[in-house]
Amino acid sequence: MNSITVRELKEYSKSDYLLIDIRSSLAYENGHILDAISFPEPFDLEQLIEIIHISGKKKTIIYCTMGERSREYVSQLYDAGYEAYNLHRGYKEWLLQGEDYLSDEEMSRYSRQMILPEFGSRGQRKLKSAKVLVVGAGALGTVALTYLAAAGVGYIGIAEADTIESSNLHRQILYGKSDIGKSKNTVAKTKLQEMNPYISVNQHETFLTPRNITEIIRGYDFVIDATDRIETKFLINDACVLEGIAFCHAGVVGFEGQVMTWKEGGYPCYRCIFEDVPQGYIPNCAEAGIIGAMSGVIGSIQALEAIKYVTGIGELLLGKIYHLDGLTMKSRIVFIHKKSEACMVCGKNRTINDVSQCEEKYRHKECSI
Ligand SMILES: [Zn+2]
Repeated sequence: MNSITVRELKEYSKSDYLLIDIRSSLAYENGHILDAISFPEPFDLEQLIEIIHISGKKKTIIYCTMGERSREYVSQLYDAGYEAYNLHRGYKEWLLQGEDYLSDEEMSRYSRQMILPEFGSRGQRKLKSAKVLVVGAGALGTVALTYLAAAGVGYIGIAEADTIESSNLHRQILYGKSDIGKSKNTVAKTKLQEMNPYISVNQHETFLTPRNITEIIRGYDFVIDATDRIETKFLINDACVLEGIAFCHAGVVGFEGQVMTWKEGGYPCYRCIFEDVPQGYIPNCAEAGIIGAMSGVIGSIQALEAIKYVTGIGELLLGKIYHLDGLTMKSRIVFIHKKSEACMVCGKNRTINDVSQCEEKYRHKECSI
């Protein structure tokens, strides 16, 4: 019998499976696993198969209250030739393991955001079951990580392999003097867990490369590009577009910053706009300089984009580049209405189909945005 545990379900990416709740409509309305479809008994195999076909998903996971009744339906579906799994011990176990269940202490901790009518307890539960990866725990990353953790994003990944230097401290706000020489990733994780013990922080103690990126981003719902290498920005764009994972790009130099978000649905990607790694010299933070407060503003916007994406509220920066000049406080939004037909990763005749096959494209040339 195919069965999966609550823990395994948490590790799956939501885009991989169809989740079916067979309890009564009333039980479903009173609470269910996020993104589950209500399909109350009596069980209709043919109708379920139709739903599976419409969803286009390969795997189907079925649950009831205790994991007993759903087992029978999983076996019917399995006999009909479908990849189906029973959620072991059902919804009750899910509640016990607290995936989107909010304790009294969490209700109190998040109360000021939960009273926002657009957000509510539904938004909070969505945050709790979300998986967000932050690439780079530097100027933008430490800020985005801080607000994601404080807001209660349940599963946060950090991809970073650098150590902390004295010249980082004016802008990388999770680190202090005694952290110099230590791993950014480990210090960031410790600080975030201390700030909010109700979340999990997953360390990827590595730099993202064309060979490892796809496997790392696959488990996440949203990716924040908080790197300062332009080649890595193209790499994150390309891997996310190919995998269909939404992400938020940002860059800061001096007093200027920009942000844009991408998700599936025909929106222009970073490469549609910037085409390719530019030839010639582009200064990075170390050479061009950067004001910490600017990365604070821009990193916060990235966290906000992730929160809006996960909870489904507000409007994302899709097909738009937000630009802020911190010296004059002039901000503008540049609208990019269409994707580029010539885009190498999302255009008609794309040439990038697998980033691991295009390593040369992302080789570091000591420059940044
Ligand atoms: Zn594109």
